[in-house]
Amino acid sequence: MPEVVVVPTEDKMKSLGADLLKRLKPGDLVMLEGELGAGKTTLVRGMAESAGWTEPLRSPTFNLMQEVPVTPPLMHADLYRVKSAWGIGLEDYLDSHICLVEWPDRLDGFFDPDNAWIVHIDFEGETARKVTIRPPL
Ligand code: ADP
Ligand code: MG
Repeated sequence: MPEVVVVPTEDKMKSLGADLLKRLKPGDLVMLEGELGAGKTTLVRGMAESAGWTEPLRSPTFNLMQEVPVTPPLMHADLYRVKSAWGIGLEDYLDSHICLVEWPDRLDGFFDPDNAWIVHIDFEGETARKVTIRPPL
């Protein structure tokens, strides 16, 4: 069953990322769904910072992929500007990293959603977000 969490602030979104990271392991892929500004990158930033990352986590979509060399290592991909995930090199990280993918609709045929975590973020009221977490089936 999917879990639903209401997240009132940006800081709480980062805490949720820290909590979620504890449940992930290399080889896991997380599909991060939600409109621009929903908080996908903020969630990933919370994960990275909880693992000790102090450098910027780049949010701009022209950075297709950013490796975050913490333990376990993260690969943050933002596929907003690509049509497909084929050929961008993401496959090299699928086994060794926790892969965190924004705009996962571009993964069509590349990764079986049944094997992925799906995190869906909706806007809720003024500043809150409703986050639905579905572990792999
Ligand atoms: P996305 O990657 O989904 O496009 P970002 O994480 O880059 O979104 O941006 C989310 C923006 O919304 C940030 O500017 C953040 O400060 C703001 N924000 C306000 N409230 C929240 C909240 N409850 N959770 C996450 N982000 C929030
Ligand atoms: Mg983003």
